[in-house]
Parts: sequence; C-alpha cells; structure tokens
Amino acid sequence: MSSSFSESVNHYVDQAADLLDLEEYVRVLLAEPYRQIDVQVPIHADDGSVHTFRGYRVQHNGARGPFKGGLRFHPDTDLDEVRALASLMTWKSALLDLPFGGAKGGMTLDPASLSLRELEAATRSFTHAISGIIGPNADILAPDVNTDARVMAWVMDAYSSQAGWSPAVVTGKPLDLGGVPGRVEATGRGVVAVTASTLAALGRELSGQRLVIQGFGNVGRHVAQLAAEQGAVIVAVSDVSGGRYVPGGLDVPGLLAEAGPGVLLKEVSTGDAVTNEELLALECDVLIPAALENAVDGTNASAVRAPVVVEGANHPLTPEADAVLRDGGVTVVPDILANAGGVTGSYFEWTSNLTAFRWSEERFNDELLAFLGRAFRSVWELHLERDVDLRTAAYMVGVARVAEAVRLRGLA
Ligand code: NAD
Repeated sequence: MSSSFSESVNHYVDQAADLLDLEEYVRVLLAEPYRQIDVQVPIHADDGSVHTFRGYRVQHNGARGPFKGGLRFHPDTDLDEVRALASLMTWKSALLDLPFGGAKGGMTLDPASLSLRELEAATRSFTHAISGIIGPNADILAPDVNTDARVMAWVMDAYSSQAGWSPAVVTGKPLDLGGVPGRVEATGRGVVAVTASTLAALGRELSGQRLVIQGFGNVGRHVAQLAAEQGAVIVAVSDVSGGRYVPGGLDVPGLLAEAGPGVLLKEVSTGDAVTNEELLALECDVLIPAALENAVDGTNASAVRAPVVVEGANHPLTPEADAVLRDGGVTVVPDILANAGGVTGSYFEWTSNLTAFRWSEERFNDELLAFLGRAFRSVWELHLERDVDLRTAAYMVGVARVAEAVRLRGLA
C-alpha cells in the first residue's frame, strides 16, 4: 500500500473514528481541511530579476480555537504535505487539551540557495499574501523545518505593519519581541520527557539508556543535549549529510560546540561516520527519528533494532513501517504526543503575549512537563483500557475532543 502523506494521516483518524463510533457527518468534517490556500510569492532576487515561489497555508479544523501551526521552508514541500501536517496539528493540540485548532504553512524553496535578503523578502511576500487569514485570534504561525526565531520576527513585522502591534500572530519569536524563555528547547524537552515517561511505564529509566537520534536541527539537538544531561547515552546522531557514531556514547557538549549553526555533521571530527540508513539500524534502546516525515518506511522498517521508537519528527514512520514495528513488538510513541512540547510551549508564549505578562523559564518548564504528563497518562491509560497501540490511543483522545467541539458548535 502506498498512499500520500495526507492519506496516511487520515488512515489513523479513520481508525480512531471507528473505535469511537463517530457519526458519519463528523467523520466527513474531520477528513478534509476547512481552508487551504496556494499562493504565488514573488520577490526581487539579488541579481535584479523577479523570482516566484509557491506558498501554502492549510487550516484543518478550528472547532476548539484559533488555527495554530508551523511554517516550513523546504524544496520538496507541497500542498499535500502541508495538508497532512495541518491535520496532525489538530489532533496534537486537542490531545494536549490546548485551545487551538490545527494549521500548517510552507514554501517550496531551498533556504540554502537564497541570500538572507532574498529569504527575508520571500517571508514578507508570503506573509502579505496570507495576511487576510492569519492573526492572533485567527491563525498563529510558529517555526518548523528551516525556519527559526528570525523568520518569525519577519512574519510578525510584516503582519504588524498592516494590523498594528501583533506579537501573538506568531510564536517562537526572539525574546526581545515577545518570545518566552524555554520555547526554543520546548519540543526537544518534551521529547525527552515523553521518552522518560514511556520508559518508566515499561519499568525502565532514561539514565543509562542508549539513544540514537536522526536529525540534528532544533528538535534533535535539544533532545541530544537534554537527554545526555539526564544520564542517557547518545550513541549516534545524524543530519542531512550523514551521522556521527560512538558505541560508548558521543561527547554531546563537544559535538554541539563543534557542529554549531550552519556546520554539517560530515564536517565534524567527533566519532565515526555513519550513513542515515545505517543509523536507523543501529543497536540501541531508543530510536528517535527527529528529521523529516517518512524516514522509516516499508523498505527499511525491518532493519530497526530499537525496542522503543519515539517520533520526534512529524510522521517519520509511514503506516507500513508502523505496522512492521508494531508486529515486531516495538513500542512506538506517536508524534502527536512525543513532539507536542513545541505547540504547548507556543501556547504559553501566545498566552504571555495576549496578557502582556512575561513568564519565567522555570514556570514555562514546570507547566510544560505538567501538560505533557497529563497527555501521556491519558494515552497510556487508554492504551491499556482498550488494548490499542499508543498511536491509536493518542488519536482517540484527540479525535474525541475535536468531535465533541464540532457537535457542540453545530453546523451554520
Ligand atoms: P530543523 O530544520 O531545525 O532540522 C531538521 C534536521 O533534519 C536537520 O539537522 C537536517 O539536516 C536534518 N535532515 C533533513 N533531511 C534529512 C534526511 N534526509 N536525513 C537525515 N536528516 C535530515 O527542523 P526541526 O524544527 O528540528 O524539525 C524536525 C522535525 O520535527 C520536523 O518533522 C518538524 O515538523 C518536527 N517538529 C518541529 C517542532 C519545532 O518546534 N521545531 C515542533 C514539532 C515538530
């Protein structure tokens, strides 16, 4: 079975809907996005020519609150990918019981091939193109693949130049523009917390466990750093250029210092080289795919040797891979739980902006762990109660909450 990314997500939604015995009209409403736009994004390139990109914003479901979701820049990004990621955001926000719906945005471009001025121009041009449908109470953006606090500042400035001071239109902003301490690390911190909770539920503890991490961007770096600080042994990490591997554990602080921003892992000297395919097959206690979607599929799933897989990225396993791992007895912790620290941290930042009250990092991290702990317990309990895997349980919690909001609000 080969299906598109959005069909794969709908497959999980359908499974949950069956188990929840959802009414047909609710299933229909949840299966497709509320709104999707595909815009032309023109810029003046540095050589004076006019260049255009395609940009997308998909608002999947807003029954529980304003749409919320990241913005990614990638040469392979297309509307189907953004549609699938928007749907994931709906279920993730509901699972964490946040007052948000789900959305996602993207532009088909390779940031490495653009100058900083061109990247800023593309970001501002895209923001103007979607400004009519975003806003602090309408749709709130955040960083994702290849976007960061600087990109969020450009989005906020472009939007605010039309609408007035509006820090809450984006989260993941620089601290001087309404960002909150803790947000940059929040997704990685959440992945580590959920990994520790899963191990505890299985009768083990994080300290001393051997972790392999694919992806060394915002999520992967912070997972490596925070897990190592809590005693885990980071056996290997990788980025798009390949990975570094030390069977006895990498020197994580040294690696982070050597592989700073803009430095690829193939350029560092720490550890031995390993390819991304080899990395997925390494012997370890926990594998954390934290790069891009569909990293593990029907062709390489059987090579995975980890007994626990924690999805740091969105949809790193195809449904075929998910089935192979489940049949092999692997515990898979789904993306909508594992990487939900990001949107939860964004919720705190949004709250802070709307109330103009600055949170301390300590309060941020305490609340983050409390939200993730509640979500983990709801998933684990349902997994035991209904004898379903963790992904199915997570979708059941999220889908049930959104379905109830749809029922209560009714149709126009
Ligand atoms: P990022 O752009 O900061 O980093 C992505 C990393 O993946 C980089 O190290 C890159 O080199 C690597 N990579 C790219 N292609 C690869 C390949 N083919 N093989 C191996 N590595 C590859 O992105 P990020 O923010 O860390 O996001 C990573 C994943 O986590 C994405 O799926 C994203 O949607 C998800 N996510 C991110 C956040 C967040 O707060 N940033 C929140 C929730 C989920």
